[in-house]
Amino acid sequence: MFIPTRAAGLDALHEFVPRAGADYRRDRNHDLGPARTNVSGLSPYIRHRLVPEQEVVDAVLDRHSLHAAEKFVQEVFWRTYWKGWLEQRPEVWRRYRTDVRDLLGGDLPDGYEDAVAGRTGIDAMDAWVRELVDTGYLHNHVRMWFASIWVFTLGLPWQLGADFFLRHLLDGDAASNTLSWRWVAGLQTRGKTYLATADNIARYTDGRFSPTGLATRAVALDEDPFPPAAPIPDDDDPAAIGPRSGLLLHDEDLEPVSLLAPLGGAVPALAATAVVGAAAARSPAGASTLVEEFTAGALDDAASRALDADGRAAEVLDPSDVAAVVDWATSERLDTVVVPYAPVGPAQERLDALRSALAETDTGLVTVRRPWDSRAWPFASRGFFPFKERIPGLVRGR
Ligand SMILES: Cc1cc2nc3c(=O)[nH]c(=O)nc-3n(C[C@H](O)[C@H](O)[C@H](O)COP(=O)(O)OP(=O)(O)OC[C@H]3O[C@@H](n4cnc5c(N)ncnc54)[C@H](O)[C@@H]3O)c2cc1C
Repeated sequence: MFIPTRAAGLDALHEFVPRAGADYRRDRNHDLGPARTNVSGLSPYIRHRLVPEQEVVDAVLDRHSLHAAEKFVQEVFWRTYWKGWLEQRPEVWRRYRTDVRDLLGGDLPDGYEDAVAGRTGIDAMDAWVRELVDTGYLHNHVRMWFASIWVFTLGLPWQLGADFFLRHLLDGDAASNTLSWRWVAGLQTRGKTYLATADNIARYTDGRFSPTGLATRAVALDEDPFPPAAPIPDDDDPAAIGPRSGLLLHDEDLEPVSLLAPLGGAVPALAATAVVGAAAARSPAGASTLVEEFTAGALDDAASRALDADGRAAEVLDPSDVAAVVDWATSERLDTVVVPYAPVGPAQERLDALRSALAETDTGLVTVRRPWDSRAWPFASRGFFPFKERIPGLVRGR
């Protein structure tokens, strides 16, 4: 269903653009089943930046006014908002990671195995589990219902639900996924929960599902406080890029042309290129076969586009093997490895290790952050509503 290439992502974008205005505003919350056209289905492409957010929004605004496509553009900015918010609170991700490791490593809670096997007896939940496992995708409204039923009806830990999603969603993303689960559970906007009801599910699935026995109250979960928000780390200075540099793409950003364009002459002709991906690092339990295959396909596709100055395609390297990346940099005699900035999440954890290992061979690591992120993230310090007010200005700066 989802072909892991930039070309397929662009086809999906161009097919969707005519529907990104009034149609999307009217129909987006309905889930009529897998053959859906009321939402874009672009998330696996955007997640890996096979098609970056800027390109999606540009294509939509070439066809519609911002007023007409406001809802769609806002949804794309939800992703940006979540990423900017988590960037300022990395401890939220770290604690989630520790919790998942502890929960999966201990006695699994009653009902967990049945839930992830699609055996809860709640027909909607069981069908959504099958859809998630079989396709790697769920509609946004379904994700909200699913998370709500998981937490408030089944009484399971939200972290295990988020982990199940992250392992199976082709678009699985540290920020959007973790923070959306927290939002449903009443942890993100403290005290404000999301309660799935049978009426709402029946209405927006056009009667396909009308589950019984759902929780009728959603009492917000609680947790220890986190440290205050930290400033977004500075991006590296492009002036640090040496004369013999190589480009290392990773699975957070697989579109080299628009990544490097804003730097102009700061990046010399690339001496070598490589790509790495970290699907298995999504969870202590790894990632589903579908996710592994989609990510591997996306990396291969990026490798064929990320040519070096001699027209050589990129090498695909094993991300769990820092030494292999260091060997690549050494054998190509690089003084600098240029990488897309990796936001909080598994790719960043790997890049931190790589930076130290490269330093030991006197090779620099220079991260490149897209202007899209640099401009928007600082506004993601509070709730989405103040952030939303910035969208027209952010879009004008495109
Ligand atoms: C519990 C839960 C978990 C989620 N986990 C993820 C995740 O791991 N990765 C992910 O990309 N999205 C996640 N979302 C957000 C959202 O459900 C998906 O982005 C959306 O359903 C993808 O389908 P689409 O591309 O057809 O979306 P469209 O409606 O066509 O939206 C266009 C794009 O905007 C972005 N977007 C839309 N809605 C949201 C949103 N609420 N939050 C963040 N970005 C959004 C996506 O990049 C999407 O591709 C989650 C939502 C919930 C409630």
